Amino acid sequence: MSAPRPLVAGNWKMNGLKAALVELAAIRDAVAAGGAGRAETAICPPFTLVAAAADACKGSALAIGAQDCHAKVSGAHTGDVSAQMLHDAGATYVIVGHSERRADHGETDAIVRAKAAAVIKAGLTAIVCVGETKDERLAGQAAAIVGGQIDGSLDPDFPATHLVVAYEPVWAIGTGLTPTAGDVAEIHAVIRQKLLKAYGPKGGAIRILYGGSVKPSNAAELMGVKNVDGALVGGASLKCADFMGIAGVYK
Ligand code: PEP
Repeated sequence: MSAPRPLVAGNWKMNGLKAALVELAAIRDAVAAGGAGRAETAICPPFTLVAAAADACKGSALAIGAQDCHAKVSGAHTGDVSAQMLHDAGATYVIVGHSERRADHGETDAIVRAKAAAVIKAGLTAIVCVGETKDERLAGQAAAIVGGQIDGSLDPDFPATHLVVAYEPVWAIGTGLTPTAGDVAEIHAVIRQKLLKAYGPKGGAIRILYGGSVKPSNAAELMGVKNVDGALVGGASLKCADFMGIAGVYK
């Protein structure tokens, strides 16, 4: 099976007022000008900007995603947003299980799995995040922890076509620290084996993104690692020049 088409997705986290749509339009136009080469691109702004961002990118090659959703379709869940609502707003991707949500909101693998199921049921693609903490890595448990998160967060019944996995070591997020290429290769190989076991040959086509302090200066090395099919980018996705400096690796 040929390597999957890479995906470079930006996670804006809790950043961005309406004025940030100008930066989004710059990214859209840079992608349209061929700046991301063969890579697919997506930006996941905060909920408040999803509909406007999707409108601004309608018909373009820049997809819009969200950063979380509720597992239910509708109901008495004050403050929550469903995957169906995100679909209605024009999103095509939803990040679930980001380590900041696992830490800040006590999201377990079971919750993440239920959210991913809701995303897929709504016709969207789930970007499921996994990753070990610094202590877990220092204890030599990184592969076991990530493997366990994959087992717990994914359902073998998920359609492989609507699934992306992001390996994001918690200690690398927003810190400027990154694992070595060898460490990334080891964990991505573990994830690939799990995906092949759960989904058969289709597991070979599921994109496995690396995330955690990706920037233009380290993107080529990280994206060149075996089984790395793109990036989930936080801070560096807020500026068009930085985001395109990463996506441009695929030109
Ligand atoms: C993220 O939060 O998904 C992330 C990868 O952040 P950063 O690139 O800022 O480390």
